[in-house]
Amino acid sequence: MLDCIFCKIITGQSPSQMVFQDEQVSAFRDIHPVAPTHILIVPNKHIASINDLTPADEPLVGHLFTVARQLAVQEGIEKTGYRLIINTGSHAGQMVFHLHLHLIGGQRVRYPMG
Ligand code: AMP
Repeated sequence: MLDCIFCKIITGQSPSQMVFQDEQVSAFRDIHPVAPTHILIVPNKHIASINDLTPADEPLVGHLFTVARQLAVQEGIEKTGYRLIINTGSHAGQMVFHLHLHLIGGQRVRYPMG
């Protein structure tokens, strides 16, 4: 997607603090962190939201979660705990329409984010 900020980050056209990348997913630090660890894990292919997933995406969605777990270990927060959030649509406050998993931790998290 030409006008998608996360697509531009994935391809290196826009700057980011990338912490992980493989052939399926990318993970980079949120530009407005709400906790010491706030990482966004995104599919490399453009999927606007959970509403756009198909059964064929199930392995990709599973991979998003195992990468989140791996990054929690890398950040040293797997034992203290962390929150994973996926906002979908306007009522949930989704601002960027490229599917992303928020990994938030490093302090006691408050409701609803951070
Ligand atoms: P959401 O409300 O779930 O759509 O959250 C979108 C998140 O993307 C917010 O936490 C923003 O701070 C974050 N964000 C927006 N633009 C960038 C960017 N260029 N680099 C990193 N994070 C971003």
